[in-house]
Amino acid sequence: MKHIKNFINGEFVASARTFEKRSPLNDAVIAQVSEAGRGEVDAAVQAARAALHGPWGKLVIADRVELLYGVANEINRRFDEFLEAECADTGKPMSLARHIDIPRGAANFKIFADVVKNVPTEFFEMATPDGLGALNYATRSPVGVVGIVCPWNLPLLLMTWKAGPALACGNTVVVKPSEETPQTATLLGEVMNAVGIPKGVYNVVHGFGPGSAGEFLTTHQGVNAITFTGETRTGAAIMKAAADGARPVSLEMGGKNPAIVFADCDFDAAIEGTMRSVFSNCGQVCLGTERVYVERPIFDKFVAALKLGAEKLKIGTPGDVATGIGPLISQEHKTKVLSYYQKARDEGAIIVTGGGVPNMAGDLAHGAWIQPTIWTGLSDDAAICREEIFGPCCHISPFDSEEEVIRRANDTTYGLAASIWTTNLQRGHRVAGKIEAGLVWVNSWFLRDLRTPFGGAKQSGIGREGGVHSLEFYTELKNICIKL
Ligand code: NAD
Repeated sequence: MKHIKNFINGEFVASARTFEKRSPLNDAVIAQVSEAGRGEVDAAVQAARAALHGPWGKLVIADRVELLYGVANEINRRFDEFLEAECADTGKPMSLARHIDIPRGAANFKIFADVVKNVPTEFFEMATPDGLGALNYATRSPVGVVGIVCPWNLPLLLMTWKAGPALACGNTVVVKPSEETPQTATLLGEVMNAVGIPKGVYNVVHGFGPGSAGEFLTTHQGVNAITFTGETRTGAAIMKAAADGARPVSLEMGGKNPAIVFADCDFDAAIEGTMRSVFSNCGQVCLGTERVYVERPIFDKFVAALKLGAEKLKIGTPGDVATGIGPLISQEHKTKVLSYYQKARDEGAIIVTGGGVPNMAGDLAHGAWIQPTIWTGLSDDAAICREEIFGPCCHISPFDSEEEVIRRANDTTYGLAASIWTTNLQRGHRVAGKIEAGLVWVNSWFLRDLRTPFGGAKQSGIGREGGVHSLEFYTELKNICIKL
């Protein structure tokens, strides 16, 4: 049995309390995890503060960049261990994690090192009444100790998407991974030590939210800024915690993302893209589609094709190359997703496919498996059309006009992402411009250039990450005015 410890000041530290990490595949306990109390969280924050004033704080950018390249290389060198750990915690197919989670997790250290290496700041020459003038230039300095609170759906990728830029900007971090996915953040501690990242720069505390490490970290006044990815209501709680001490927050939160499929789309591409956006990672992707609007002339054909695709997905274990879809993250999440499957039935949805739990053999019968599910027939005010489910499911409904579908797509408190499928160039631009979301794809989904802004509108987020946008949060911009 593995024992997963906190990583504080370069050391692996056990706590008095532990909790069990269970496998999504069969509900077996796969690890005991040390739960950080206030003491451990305080030690991590103190270590992070001390590290700001140690060798790390004195590094020139070029040296910091070299160290972070080293982190990326070392993750890639230990690729299989990270892959194994991520798939053990999440149950996701290795074919997916091999292409997304682990390589992107490593790349996040490299790309933000490159951004920081190359980014300019601004300079303004100013006229003054005495005719001598003044020069204004801006400098960037780290914000200090950054608290990072993460979800379980893309554990390494989403954590390093924050830790990468935070460290590249010269900050130190205390990471609170999801209680469901403690392994890869901990393994990264070994990587940090191996490449010579100074002690205290990267710390990990394990535990839950309220009354546990999440709350202790976000309420700790030694934390200068808090960055969070997870559910909207958790983000709101964290925002309240951050109000004490007026500390900045960056929030990436939930979504109820639409896909809009026009009759003039490249049909096969729209099906392929929607298959991925609905079912990838068992539907547990913040950018995933849960509402599909299809223009009426191709509605029946689209529903039939998506049904065929969903029924072809092989439900299976991470190592099986044929696996198209793994389990949900936990029994608790399965209960939540199944409650929506029930609500759909109660509200009179037509169940096109799925709607329940697959039969799994042997000990897999105890896992968090669920059927990919498609519904039609409900109006936009049904619970499954309004609330984030975070499972492998979508509701498909027909539409008749561009104005109608824009209005319906925007009729949500969320605003994370949308996909539009059309071969009409003008329409693609026009509709994209009118969608109230932080990310809009036309004829694709999850195509990410990491230099571009990433984040949600409305209740899906506050702030933007990616490229230079991450610098806005992880640095203090200072204007220096020199009177000549
Ligand atoms: P969650 O909000 O339940 O938990 C996220 C993290 O917050 C966990 O580490 C948890 O322990 C911690 N936490 C919970 N309550 C807390 C509190 N009161 N104080 C401090 N920390 C607390 O989210 P989840 O279930 O892990 O992840 C799924 C959610 O994340 C979905 O809503 C999904 O849309 C969202 N998500 C958003 C993005 C994005 O980029 N916008 C990306 C991935 C996931």
